[in-house]
Amino acid sequence: MSWASRAAANIFPLSREKDNLAIALREWRYTGDYNDLEAPIETCKLCDHPDIRYQFEIQNLHTAETLLVGSECINRFNIAATDEEGRTLDADGTRKKLAKDRRKLVDDARRRRLVKALVALAHADKEFNIHSFIDYLQKRDAFTPYQVTTLMWRFEKHGIDHNPKDFKITIKRGREKAQLVKMSDWQLRRLLPCLSTGQRDYLHREGLHPSEQGNA
Ligand SMILES: [Zn+2]
Repeated sequence: MSWASRAAANIFPLSREKDNLAIALREWRYTGDYNDLEAPIETCKLCDHPDIRYQFEIQNLHTAETLLVGSECINRFNIAATDEEGRTLDADGTRKKLAKDRRKLVDDARRRRLVKALVALAHADKEFNIHSFIDYLQKRDAFTPYQVTTLMWRFEKHGIDHNPKDFKITIKRGREKAQLVKMSDWQLRRLLPCLSTGQRDYLHREGLHPSEQGNA
């Protein structure tokens, strides 16, 4: 069965139109509700595609039925989104809204993993002051270079599960740039997985290029 025939089989029972897929699809809108299952464990309820982690809700304008589907399906089948006032968006507006919602889901998941690692560290390490780190995270959504080297060192010492890529570094201010310049090779190596491409370029321009080798 093709994805179109699978979609037809799934939505005709929930739509007013029972015969023409394109017409039936026009009855549906992306509602702006979405959900993170935290693992790719569901199927798309429109095309039956497996391994869906992020679910997006579509709703039929006539029957009020809803389906949780993958974001790609909304784009592929040209299902229009609605804005906060319930107005239907055009194709470009829909794509932008969907991409924005998807980015938010991914970023929220990153922050949850990050806070979980901080809490685990606070339990294992009595000297670790979690409050200053949470404060910083809330104010700037990123940490200073020193904060991140401290964190990575403490995570490693206490065997705390973490993903270095979840920790963003800010080097916008002069004193944050100054921290980088003063760092030793091993400290910079610890930071590398957390740096953005632009930040790596900055290091390179400043003549700071730690080798990634030996970064256990
Ligand atoms: Zn799908």
